[in-house]
Amino acid sequence: MDNAQFNTLYIVIPCYNEEEALPKTAEVVLTKLRALEGAGRVSPQSRIMLVDDGSRDRTWETIAGLCDGSEYFAGVKLSRNRGHQNALLAGLMTARNHADLTISMDADLQDDIDAIDKMVEHYLAGADVVYGVRSKRAEDTFFKRMTAEGYYKVLAKLGCQVVFNHADYRLLSRRALDALAEYGEQSLFLRGIVPMLGYKTATVEYERHARELGESKYPLSKMLSLAADGVMGLSLKPVRYVLTAGLITLLLSGAFLVFALLGLIWGYPFLGWKLIVFSIWFVGGLLLTSLGVVGEYAGRAYMESKHRPRYFIERTEGLSAAPETEDNA
Ligand code: UDP
Ligand code: MG
Repeated sequence: MDNAQFNTLYIVIPCYNEEEALPKTAEVVLTKLRALEGAGRVSPQSRIMLVDDGSRDRTWETIAGLCDGSEYFAGVKLSRNRGHQNALLAGLMTARNHADLTISMDADLQDDIDAIDKMVEHYLAGADVVYGVRSKRAEDTFFKRMTAEGYYKVLAKLGCQVVFNHADYRLLSRRALDALAEYGEQSLFLRGIVPMLGYKTATVEYERHARELGESKYPLSKMLSLAADGVMGLSLKPVRYVLTAGLITLLLSGAFLVFALLGLIWGYPFLGWKLIVFSIWFVGGLLLTSLGVVGEYAGRAYMESKHRPRYFIERTEGLSAAPETEDNA
């Protein structure tokens, strides 16, 4: 495996309205790829694959320009905005037909580019999956850090196997990509699925920087929806918690019944109306919340049952094969 001939690396970068960040990112990543190639770690067929996730600015024009200017770049244009996870999947599944290994990263250089060297070394030493793990989040806002780290802890409590402080900066071998291709779910949460693949894994620590160019494409709403995909896509525990809450309420109501009967027997004036109002609202709220949780799962099951395609590729640049749709990917 140490023969660079066979180590074609595709660095896959999803881009949504990234015209500001792309030129600098392209330059930095190209320098890194050339250095790896020069050192004989990856083959000369290695590429930087930029996936345009239906951007509304000049992202695709920028990508097409890069592909024209250098054979090291390849471009994939999705037919519309499908979100980060789908864009990344589209890139990985397209790269799978050309690469021996892929590394996915964001377009904003927040993740330390030098971690790539260590990832490739782990691959050469036999790892199929290498996770980039943030050792420090000092540059993130307090809110983002607290919510993100709290979220990893909640997922772990729910029994989901996720790598703490790892997002989507990771290396995947072709074998791991082939396994990933078997997962057909709509609501995709890659960092929850990848640990299910198995194979030999390794981790690489790096410091996460602040975004320098352009602004975050992950508003709170998208973060929450990704978080929900993570929890509900990976775990059935919330539904079981509903059952537990129901049983506890039932027990409580039994205790109240005993209390009321005793009050009748001994002639105590029994509890004020405030407590009755409280219990009505409490049980009502519990019922509605439970219905919501169960409904959310039912709705997700319904959406998944349609098996809708997750993305369409409108065109590609700098790739030898014809554009691939999900079906023939
Ligand atoms: N992204 C995407 N589609 C989207 C939103 C984001 O492809 O609908 C890409 C974006 O261009 C970037 C990566 O996903 O390369 C991560 O987004 P961002 O850096 O804005 O997220 P943050 O670092 O703020 O969590
Ligand atoms: Mg970012």
